[in-house]
Parts: sequence; C-alpha cells; structure tokens
Amino acid sequence: MTLVCEEDLGGCPKCGGSIVLSDGPQHWGHCWDHKTKWYIGRNLFSVWGDLSEEQHQDVRELLSACQEVEPLSLNEPIPGAAEAAALAADVLRKATGGAV
Ligand SMILES: [Zn+2]
Repeated sequence: MTLVCEEDLGGCPKCGGSIVLSDGPQHWGHCWDHKTKWYIGRNLFSVWGDLSEEQHQDVRELLSACQEVEPLSLNEPIPGAAEAAALAADVLRKATGGAV
C-alpha cells in the first residue's frame, strides 16, 4: 500500500500532514510533529482577520520554531510512510513470535 499526501495545500514531507496557520494575511502549511512549514500564499482565506493580536503572536512564535521545507503535492507518495509501515509490521512480528 502506498500512502499519498491528501492535502491540496501541500503536506509535510515526512508524514503528509498539514495544519494551515495564518500570520496576518500570509498562510503557511505546518506540521508540529516534524517542525516543518511551507508557504501557501497570501489573502486566500478571510479567517485571519478574526484572530486576536495574541493569537497572531502565538502563530508567529510557532512558525519561527519550524523549518521551511518543500511540501508534498496532492497525491504525491509520502516517502517515510512505507518505511514506517514496514517497521511497524516487523515490530509486531517480533512481538508475537512470528504468529502474524
Ligand atoms: Zn509531519
């Protein structure tokens, strides 16, 4: 089974996940697990205007802790997913003494 990125605004290169954050009118995709971020664009959503100054501050701090990366595109295979699945299957096999 090949896992692919299901995010149409780009996904984390390690897990394919994405949470969209807005720093003012600038939108970023972001994955907290892998501390990654990628630029999506400007003024695409109207939601940013509803955030308080404190929330903007939180977003800026969060984004500054993340490394900018090249995101996966929609339907692009997630490189680490097959490896992680194989590793999990191996651990399970060892834990059950080969019964699975
Ligand atoms: Zn990730």
